[in-house]
Amino acid sequence: MRPVTPPPPTAARVSAVGPSPVREILALTARPEVINFAGGLPAPELFDVEGLRAAYDRVLTANPQRALQYSTTEGDLDLRTAVAARLTGRGLATGPDDLLVTTGSQQALALLATALLEPGDVVLVEDPCYLAALQCFGFAGAKVVPVPTDGDGIDPAALAEIARRERPKLLYLVPTFQNPTGRTLPGERRRAVAQVAADLGFWIVEDDPYGELRYDGEPEPWIAADPAAADRTALLGSFSKILAPGLRLGYLRAPAALRRACVIAKQAADLHTSTVDQAAAARYLRDSDLDAHVAKIRSAYRERRDAMLAGLPAALPAGSGWNQPAGGMFLWVTLPGGLDATALLATAVEHEVAYVPGAPFFVAAPDQGALRLSFTTHAPDEIEEGLRRLAKAIEDHL
Ligand code: PMP
Repeated sequence: MRPVTPPPPTAARVSAVGPSPVREILALTARPEVINFAGGLPAPELFDVEGLRAAYDRVLTANPQRALQYSTTEGDLDLRTAVAARLTGRGLATGPDDLLVTTGSQQALALLATALLEPGDVVLVEDPCYLAALQCFGFAGAKVVPVPTDGDGIDPAALAEIARRERPKLLYLVPTFQNPTGRTLPGERRRAVAQVAADLGFWIVEDDPYGELRYDGEPEPWIAADPAAADRTALLGSFSKILAPGLRLGYLRAPAALRRACVIAKQAADLHTSTVDQAAAARYLRDSDLDAHVAKIRSAYRERRDAMLAGLPAALPAGSGWNQPAGGMFLWVTLPGGLDATALLATAVEHEVAYVPGAPFFVAAPDQGALRLSFTTHAPDEIEEGLRRLAKAIEDHL
């Protein structure tokens, strides 16, 4: 017998970054009897299945050879033209050539990391921060440095101080209805952030998958639209939350040189995003009324958010705090008096209700009493029942 030499191990970065704790929790809570406030999933009963089926039908009937063929890395011109018109309509002048279609906005994050980051480069993030962004910057070997936040998001004064010290390559933020907190950065802070980036010379990655899910108030302008930071901001958008996440369609709007660098990174990653899915989305945007569809989602989610806000005072112990997000999918809770949200989860799951503990989202010392509640996937009566179960779980746990 010849000796067998084992293959080398996987790269150290895989174990250094590790799996997403949220995805692990989702696996634990996937039982159908669990009322699940943990997932960040859009409500599947609101998908416009008919509209999408019709769009795929038309694409595969009208021009199947094109829809099924390889295509350009930049993405379907009809789709980019439609997205550019939507962005322009919302106050950010954009042409189709300013855009790169990505396989979900998650891919845009990976491409930006490849295009911009050397190992050891500093990336500034909101603390707490979207987890898969932390994974992405971790894979790039970046040094991730947290910037403190309050109920209005990132603190521009702290940002300036940290940026002066750390000399970051980029700042990553979700300024509107953030994941995990649901917070929105006010206009004044957006301008301050843009100015700090201009003064100190770093890129801004403005991730905006939730902006169209607004239930109250007026939209804040994108940081990408601020003249101070227009030359250094990459804006990420997505069809996941307004159409369907399974399409895996997102886009990146970035200054020319950075966009070209991302195109090169994408050639190596997947050549291009699915041609047939892009064509179907473009067709959907032409034949269906996406704005009317989004309005329908908004009104259902507003009702669900309100049901959760109405149920929280009775469900949570005295001294708990939570915010009232004006949109998005998440609400951020802080439990009082040393109550540990990670330890409480096991009891909650026994009571058939789930949430995501806040701790994994932090880069600096976590707030152990924090947790994220998603209000989108259950109808109001189930939300009420879920909160009753949570109240019982807390009672049992204490
Ligand atoms: N950014 C943020 C802040 C998110 O919450 C998500 C999805 N949960 C994404 C990006 C990725 O979205 P997608 O790839 O589906 O567009």
